[in-house]
Amino acid sequence: MTEKYDIAFLGGGPAGYQGAIRAAKLGARVAVIEERFVGGVCLNWGCIPTKAVRASAEAGRTLRRAREYGFKAVEAVPDIAAIIARKQRVIKALRGSIEQLFLARKIELIEGRGALVGPGKIEVRKPGESALIEASKVIIATGSRPAGLPMIPKGPRVFLADEMLDISFLPQQLLVIGGGAVGVEMAAIFRELGSEIVLVEALDRILPFDDRETAENLLTILQRRKIKVYCSTTVESVVESGDGFSVRLSNGTELTPDTILQAVGRRFNTEGIGLEQLGIEMERGRIVVDKHLQTNVPGHYAAGDVIGGWLLAHVAFAEGICAAEHALGLGSWMDYWVVPRCVFSIPEYAAVGISEEEAREKYSVKVARFPFKSLGMAQAIGELEGQVKIIADTETDTILGAHIFGPHGADLISEIALAMKGDSPARLVMDTIHTHPTLSEAVLEVAQALHDQAIHVAPSRGH
Ligand SMILES: Cc1cc2nc3c(=O)[nH]c(=O)nc-3n(C[C@H](O)[C@H](O)[C@H](O)COP(=O)(O)OP(=O)(O)OC[C@H]3O[C@@H](n4cnc5c(N)ncnc54)[C@H](O)[C@@H]3O)c2cc1C
Repeated sequence: MTEKYDIAFLGGGPAGYQGAIRAAKLGARVAVIEERFVGGVCLNWGCIPTKAVRASAEAGRTLRRAREYGFKAVEAVPDIAAIIARKQRVIKALRGSIEQLFLARKIELIEGRGALVGPGKIEVRKPGESALIEASKVIIATGSRPAGLPMIPKGPRVFLADEMLDISFLPQQLLVIGGGAVGVEMAAIFRELGSEIVLVEALDRILPFDDRETAENLLTILQRRKIKVYCSTTVESVVESGDGFSVRLSNGTELTPDTILQAVGRRFNTEGIGLEQLGIEMERGRIVVDKHLQTNVPGHYAAGDVIGGWLLAHVAFAEGICAAEHALGLGSWMDYWVVPRCVFSIPEYAAVGISEEEAREKYSVKVARFPFKSLGMAQAIGELEGQVKIIADTETDTILGAHIFGPHGADLISEIALAMKGDSPARLVMDTIHTHPTLSEAVLEVAQALHDQAIHVAPSRGH
């Protein structure tokens, strides 16, 4: 018998599972088809695993700084098996929570690989079985997978981004190929765990698509942590040798890493799921959607990494919810003007809005910076590296962008994102009383500096 649903999600990652919960709350009969684990890349191999292992790396860092905090020196020897086991416990607990939410909302989780076999018809296969389900609305949320370089040999010491945190050993020398968010994050984490790191980026800087000044400042900090970074450099050859590799870079440098991580981008999961047969429009591998996330085939939507753009879990959450709402009759649409984003390096980098370069090209701007070292709370907790920068329109005081690197930058950026979303001038941030002593006062101080009212420092200021 064919099961019928109001709405079916192909893929149970961030877009699929949050969209499903929203749809169930709107009263729909909902199915989620998932071939691996609910939570997708984010929960099982991406956002959460990296943050769990990063927490271990930071704990080690604090232990190594024991004397600074008034303790006798302690030995901090990482036990990679225990660190990975802890990460796995975190994943299991969160996966269980999603499954409980599904149960409570009567969302049917159908295990297997799904493919569209007609409008609103999905065939779900698993070994030895297949089933057909029908849904009035379908949301394609199949996500993405890591890309690799053909020249890199496969083997137990060569990892793609999604595989790295299932590692069973601590690399001695890790070659990270790619200086985007994932490469920088992994480099920072494994450095704190004690690996020697060489990071290679083909473009002229790390985090090549964000604010230049902030990315350069972060680079200085990574180098201070003894991470070796080669920009404008590519990997020319990799040959296995003994327990590791002989690697030659385009700048002539020879390396002998024992482990390689490829963090060179992602591919969209659009193959073999019936998109061509249904005539769903695609462009360079991603599904094309309108602002309501509708594809060109009525009743069929797509959300999350599979539509390209920002490949971020919180964007996928918002898209899954938007698609579910529109499919069930609400007028929802996506607004990408305010998208905060973070790189969980140590310390963190977070941004919202546009870079200073882009702002200067398009607007008349004022820019203010505030260094964490001038802040009471940063001094109290011993985290002095980094700064907050806000770029605002000179005439309207509208915030155009903000870039933070430093402790808890990823949390601090939300306040600025909210101000931008509400079209509030930077002055509103300044006029809001902030709790003391907190790191959030760095945001207050930079807003004050934008209006020539800096209290704790005379920050450099450009017009
Ligand atoms: C190392 C790493 C760290 C990251 N850290 C962050 C971070 O800190 N913050 C952040 O915002 N983002 C982060 N990301 C990105 C984030 O993981 C993705 O943007 C997010 O997972 C995308 O969600 P999604 O639902 O679109 O797709 P996915 O998470 O890829 O989920 C898609 C799901 O669909 C399933 N699926 C695919 N095809 C089928 C099919 N035919 N049938 C059934 N099921 C199918 C897959 O098994 C998968 O579970 C990170 C990514 C990586 C790799």
